[in-house]
Amino acid sequence: MSYVKGLKCRICGTPYPVEPLSICEECFGPLEVDYDYDAIKQKLTREEIASRPKTLWRYQELLPIDGEPRVGLQTGCTPLVRAGRLEKALGVRELYIKNDAVSHPTLSFKDRVVAVALSKAREFNFDAVGCASTGNLANSVAANAAAAGIPAYILIPDNLEKSKVIGTQIFGANVIPVRGNYDDVNRLCSEIAGRYRFAFVNVNLRPFYGEGSKTFGYEIAEQLGWEAPDAIVVPMAGGSLITKIHKAFKELDQLGFIPSAQTRFYGAQATGCNPISAAVKAGTREICPVKPSTIAKSLAIGNPADGYFATGVITETGGWSEDVSDEEILESIEQLAQTEGIFTETAGGTTLAVTKKLLAQGRLKTDDRIVVAITGNGLKTQEALSLADLKSIDPRLSAFEELIGTPQAAVA
Ligand SMILES: *Cc1c(COP(=O)(O)O)cnc(C)c1O
Ligand SMILES: [Zn+2]
Repeated sequence: MSYVKGLKCRICGTPYPVEPLSICEECFGPLEVDYDYDAIKQKLTREEIASRPKTLWRYQELLPIDGEPRVGLQTGCTPLVRAGRLEKALGVRELYIKNDAVSHPTLSFKDRVVAVALSKAREFNFDAVGCASTGNLANSVAANAAAAGIPAYILIPDNLEKSKVIGTQIFGANVIPVRGNYDDVNRLCSEIAGRYRFAFVNVNLRPFYGEGSKTFGYEIAEQLGWEAPDAIVVPMAGGSLITKIHKAFKELDQLGFIPSAQTRFYGAQATGCNPISAAVKAGTREICPVKPSTIAKSLAIGNPADGYFATGVITETGGWSEDVSDEEILESIEQLAQTEGIFTETAGGTTLAVTKKLLAQGRLKTDDRIVVAITGNGLKTQEALSLADLKSIDPRLSAFEELIGTPQAAVA
């Protein structure tokens, strides 16, 4: 049973049937999934959701598949961590980390979009899947396609972090590095999808893919006791995640599951690739594409497909967008690790560094209930870090004492 009414253009509203389409023929706007919310409201309750297994499929009525899910059956329900030591360090009252650095199976929030997109690809009877990726999507499509027994074609810029390449190849996918940046890769995927019957999750299946991101927002609201936070800080690459968390809170509001959502949305980018934050700061919704140059490679999309909608969400909700230097990103990766024991990748460093900047600007208030979206794992971007060289010692107590001194904390 599905509650999907069809696809609909996000610009002109033209309706389309449920097919692997992503672009409006009338106005070239992007398509999105449209649901029968009245019917969902008749059937679904918060208690019903709470009684279901702890995976993203507990929100199945709000996801665009017709039958039972077939991919990503264990994905979702990552921790929402109350970050007490980080609160002290930043001087704020109430701060949470939504921690998708520990997402199953590939340690980033992209497992959510892929669970939905590949379930849909199987309903559409595609026999090959693929993606254009800045790294994390590559990992997740490769892993989930392997587990589903579907061949995968993964196109990536040829300068990605080694762990992201290995974490794709290991699953037996066809990995194709392209001499160019993400925007070049994405254009090539559109051409391939125009000629062959491939399900490119973020190209021809993009309307379905985006819906998976909503579960990041549903979970936050449920974990806060069915309330939306005052403010949320979200990293932006193509700008999809931030708009889908916004859609999630609006839907929960419409279903009567949360009190009217007043959340301010804040978008985070690296200064070396900041087309969306630059637009917000310039007071426009028109995105001026850039050539990326930053260690935050998972966010390095110079021409963001959802940039227009991301700026809309940010300004409509009274939020803002900022960008930070590579140095600030690295400092924040260390700070999150050393205050909360959470090791995030460069995208997470970007998000925390922007959070601090927004606090310093007074845009985030110290008594706001704030959620910081941590979307990926630090083990994947190790080459960005430069930690102190370690000194080896001989296996003798005296050598240990020479190095450390007498450890005050632990005298027997
Ligand atoms: C892809 C990605 C994002 C942003 O995703 P968009 O929906 O394209 O804005 C954020 N963080 C990480 C770690 C990602 O891989
Ligand atoms: Zn249209």
